[in-house]
Amino acid sequence: MKYVLALDQGTTSSRAILFDQNGKVAGKAYQEFRQIYPKAGWVEHDPKDILSSQVGVIAQALVRAGASIADVEAVGLSNQRETTLVWDAKTGAPVYNAIVWQCRRTADMCDDLKARGLDKMIYAKTGLVADAYFSATKIRWILDNVEGAREKARRGELRFGTVDTYLMYALSGGRIYATDYTNAARTMLFNIHTLDWDDELLSLFDIPRSMLPEVHPSGHFYGKTDGDFLGRELKICAVAGDQQAALFGHLCTRKGDIKNTYGTGCFLLMNTGDTAVESNNGLITSLAAGFGKPDYILEGSVFVGGAAVQWLRDEMKIINTAAESEELATKVPSSEGVYVVPAFTGLGAPYWDARARGAIIGLTRGTGREHIVRATLEGIAYQVADIVRAMELDAGVKISTLRVDGGASANNFLMAFQSDILGCTVLRPAVIETTALGAAYLAGITSGLWSDVEELRKNERTERAFSPSIGEGERRRLLEGWRSAVDASRLR
Ligand code: ADP
Repeated sequence: MKYVLALDQGTTSSRAILFDQNGKVAGKAYQEFRQIYPKAGWVEHDPKDILSSQVGVIAQALVRAGASIADVEAVGLSNQRETTLVWDAKTGAPVYNAIVWQCRRTADMCDDLKARGLDKMIYAKTGLVADAYFSATKIRWILDNVEGAREKARRGELRFGTVDTYLMYALSGGRIYATDYTNAARTMLFNIHTLDWDDELLSLFDIPRSMLPEVHPSGHFYGKTDGDFLGRELKICAVAGDQQAALFGHLCTRKGDIKNTYGTGCFLLMNTGDTAVESNNGLITSLAAGFGKPDYILEGSVFVGGAAVQWLRDEMKIINTAAESEELATKVPSSEGVYVVPAFTGLGAPYWDARARGAIIGLTRGTGREHIVRATLEGIAYQVADIVRAMELDAGVKISTLRVDGGASANNFLMAFQSDILGCTVLRPAVIETTALGAAYLAGITSGLWSDVEELRKNERTERAFSPSIGEGERRRLLEGWRSAVDASRLR
């Protein structure tokens, strides 16, 4: 048996999953690592923790699969996006901790960019909103704040990389210095139309080109890992940012294909083919994982998704486990006019109201915890539906199927309601490790283990499909109620 090894380097844990030739999980292992919070709003990772946790899980996954390193045909890498590392070109030693995507330390720098009206130029070139999430201002912060870094950068002695680049550099003993389109597109330095680093942006942030890796398609032979590391050289045949890897894992490779990940927050990505769709709703335009010239995507996120269920459990204490939310929600025939808007940190697309706050409306003397729980799950689905509608409007397509993954996609009530409110089919796949699966698919096709996407499509297995059970009139009535609830959340 030949295997593809997917390495999924996430924000809170590193995973290794071994997929067999049939795309089935043969063995997996994961390890959490330390989150460092030096100040309020700041988040860092120690690069050593990223590397050691990622290497550490490989052996475990192999043992669980009963496989040896010699059975690994190819490696595919997926990673937390935007997180920024800078290291010394000669020694490979990082000059600072990894600054994590969530870190807000450069928020003022972004406000300044907006005040200078530069956000429009940034959007036109990169497809991104000028926000502290993305790497550019984080690199600049390191060059401005680490002693001697700026001079070293000017002399060409420093390297920048997102986590994929750092891992490949470390695992190859400095021989691979590269990234893929999906990761490059999240740096705010990469022009998604010319598919190259952008000189105007580089000079805006005062970042020399010598600090930037080569950029390749996600499915590409990047090089081999050093034999000393894992006891044998392994071929790295794919790299993709986690959300784009998941999109590929769902085989959303055709225009209009769309997936949502229901994690702490929700991440929606829609493939828009060869058109870079400009959004009128504040969605991000970016690049998809693939081979050769990349497809474009629209991306939108819901800040509070599964986190609303955690709130019910940890703050409201009206459920004991996340799974119990499904049981309670189905004890009542409807939420009876109760709406929960989980706008705890404001509202994102398509509202973009940072001052909005959570709201519960429609309470009566008869409202019970079942109604509140049900309305909270519905609140997640409504937010997702708002983004799907925005994507449909921006892209001028009507979607018929939403593919799902992530922790909260296990909730059957939530999935059924999502289908009702969208009026489309919701498909939950049999393999829910979609991010790792996408990295494995990309690597397996690149290495020749699988011939193409169509071969993989034949093996695609749906665990459950949810179809709408309500009519258009009912849907319209529910959505009107949601709209007034959103209005209430903005009354401040
Ligand atoms: P992340 O990758 O963001 O950590 P996961 O994909 O692991 O997230 O999903 C975890 C989230 O899913 C949590 O916010 C949790 O509340 C939610 N969740 C997990 N199981 C369920 C369930 N059965 N019903 C609703 N929400 C759930």
